[in-house]
This record gives sequence, structure tokens and C-alpha cells, in this order.
Amino acid sequence: MWDSHAKKKGATRLYRTYVCFIHYPVLELIGVMSMGTLEKLAVLADGAKYDVSCASSGVNKHNRDGIGNSKSFGICHTWSADGRCVSLLKILLTNYCIYNCNYCVNRNQNDIPRASFTPREVADLTIQFYRRNYIEGLFLSSGIERSPNHTMERIYQVLDILRHEYHFYGYIHVKVIPGADPALVNKTGLLADRMSINIEQPTEQSLKLLAPQKTLPVLFAPMNQIHHQMTQNASERKIFRHVQKFVPAGQSTQMIVGASKDSDLSIIKATETLYNRFQLKRVYYSAYVPVNEGPNLPALSTSPPLLREHRLYQADWLLRFYSFKADEIVNEQSPFLDTDFDPKISWALRNMQLFPLEINQASYEELLRIPGVGVTSAQRIIRQRRLGNISYNHLKKMGVVLKRAKYFITCQGCYYGGIPAESALVRQALTPVAKPVQLCLF
Ligand code: SF4
Repeated sequence: MWDSHAKKKGATRLYRTYVCFIHYPVLELIGVMSMGTLEKLAVLADGAKYDVSCASSGVNKHNRDGIGNSKSFGICHTWSADGRCVSLLKILLTNYCIYNCNYCVNRNQNDIPRASFTPREVADLTIQFYRRNYIEGLFLSSGIERSPNHTMERIYQVLDILRHEYHFYGYIHVKVIPGADPALVNKTGLLADRMSINIEQPTEQSLKLLAPQKTLPVLFAPMNQIHHQMTQNASERKIFRHVQKFVPAGQSTQMIVGASKDSDLSIIKATETLYNRFQLKRVYYSAYVPVNEGPNLPALSTSPPLLREHRLYQADWLLRFYSFKADEIVNEQSPFLDTDFDPKISWALRNMQLFPLEINQASYEELLRIPGVGVTSAQRIIRQRRLGNISYNHLKKMGVVLKRAKYFITCQGCYYGGIPAESALVRQALTPVAKPVQLCLF
């Protein structure tokens, strides 16, 4: 499935996935693949670069005089459930598609180079790359060729060859094709580590407008199936240890940001529903890169909304680790995230009546709400308080970012903000100062 790509620098570690590069001359030299396969790989790895539900986009470099030529697609890195960084071969099985999602470069009506791998070709490529130590796993996505069942069956065949013929037990992340037979999803899930179904748009209306062949119930059906089977599998494995694992690394999804007019409120509410209803491991956000023209799409000259994407990742973090609710982060009155401040500071500025909080008395949940206090520093504060009172000087050593936190806390009864703890004043104090422009003498 297609998603727009975009990654900004400086994203949180878990969001960051790096792309490293297939060096084509090297591959040809060592005879890894025939020229036909190489051409298909160029088309199908390029088509997969828009999918960020495992990885980011990379860079193109062309260096005529030395080594270091690279393409922004091919091999990406991602973090597995146990925190290891693994490199994945990231490709599409095919970029033929019977659907016509407005935002997608692979949509049926686009006149672009098309290619399809056979399941054996994908399995062979994976093994060849693995044996050469280029990758540790596979990220396999696909357009919908002929029908959802036909495509899902071929995805299953790739996994079947890899797992049963090559006995490859590396990490495999595959897309589930919405509308495919649940039996196919089931047998694929027994071989995959992670599965994802990209919801793409947060509301039924935007789907209708931009991806008329898709509906939320059709997208939710396999998510629901995977969730139920994962739960069932976990309880069965408690009794029978030999039971085969079903999607052990969980499921994820992705939403495109900026292709439709949906607000951040709609996106964050949809995210919250997905986490609560299907226990997704991750929701990825992908700033829309205009690739098609259309009355319902942003103009081709529109820049991808990278800052918005970044703020959504920060809001997602608050949902998952800081016990925030969607309507605390954004609401009907302010449906878009503040671009000047991260969502936690914005929330604190709107709720200054709750601050300042005394560091030596606040509960763990309250500590998590203080801008500049993260999960680790909140845990350290709680631990340290068992031994004695915490002084202001201790806080920095515990990882608290005092330049933000000082306006929202007291420590042993003293307030160190230097200005009254009022929303307008604190907002002004926290607003980043614009860097002076260097004047040119000439
Ligand atoms: S189903 Fe839609 S998003 Fe997926 S490849 Fe086809 S046109 Fe693109």
C-alpha cells in the first residue's frame, strides 16, 4: 500500500529509521542479480520508499569521482520490539494496482514504469542480500494486482518460501491487503513478525473523497482479526508452549497527513481509537508529498507538512507514554496542534491553574504532565524521594530539562521561574528567540 514519505531531522529515536543504500555497481559486479531483476528492483524499491510505516525516506547522492553513490530507497533500518536496530530490504511485490487512490503514485491511472516480482524472486533476493550481510529482514508491501486475494496469496507465498524452504527466521514485516480472505491473513500472520494495514485517512469522508475504493470497515476488519488472533495466540501459548506465534511483533498502521483537510483533532482521535480498539504497536504519520494533481489534493507545489508530522509524533508519544487523552491534546476550539510549542507545553500553557507543582509531593502521573520531565526523570524523582527531599540542583542530574520545567514547578516550596507563573508570560518566555541574521559586509 502506498503512503507519502517524509521525515524530518531530529525526530525521536524510535521514530527515526534510517535508509542505507543499495550500491548498484557493486551489486552488478558481484553478480547478485540479473539486469531484469535489477531494473525491477529499481522500480519496486523506489515505489516502496513512500511507505514510512517501517522506515523513512533517505537521500540521493551522486558522486562521479569516488565511492558513495546512493539511492534513497532499498534498505532501511528499523527497531525491533526488543530494541535492536535491524536493516530490512524494503520493496513492493508489485506496483500494478487496480485501485485509484488519489494521493498514490502507484494508482491505476498514473502512467509510470510498472513491474512485478514473482514470490520466488523476492525470496531469492532476500536470501542473497541476507547472505551478503546487507539486511537482516524484509519489509514487503504491494499494490493490489488483479484482486486482494491474488495479491495476499502471493505475499503469503514469499513468506512460505522464505520460512519453509530457506528456513529464514529473520524479521519480516508485511502489508495486509484490505479485503483479502481472513484465512489468507491468518496463514500469513503465522509466518510474519509484524503486519500492517494502512488506514491512510482518519475519517470515512476523506477516504470517500481520496480513496473511493476503500472504506473504514474494510480496513478495520483485518486489524480486528489480527488483534483477536494475537490475543488468542498469547493465551494459548501460556498453556501450550509449542503453539506457533501469530504476528509476534504486533501490528501497525499509517496515516497520511496533509492530503485531505482533516484536522489534527481528527487524526489524533483516530489514533486513540486505533490504540484502544486494536492495541496497535505504532501509528505512523506521513507528511503528504504531492505526487498527483487533483481537485481534492493540495497543489503540486505544496511542501510536505513536516512540522505538522513532527508535532503529531509528539502527540502520539503523549497518548502512548504519558496517559494523555486525545481531547486534552487538541479540542474543538483548537483542532490543530500548536506549531510553536510541543503538545505537552501547549497543554500546560492552557492549564496553568494546575501549576506550579511541588516536585517533592506531586504524584507520578502529575510529574509526567510537567514540561521538561520525561518518563525516566519522573521515575528517578519518585525513587529519589524515598531517600529524602529533592533540591532544585538535583533535578538537572535526574534529566529534567529545567529551562522548560522551571515555570511549572516548585522545589522545597521555592519557585525558580523568575516570572509569575501566568500563561501569557510563560508563553513569551518559552517562545524561541529568532536567530539574528548575519549581515554581509560586502
Ligand atoms: S491501493 Fe491505493 S494506496 Fe495502495 S498501491 Fe493501490 S492506489 Fe496506491
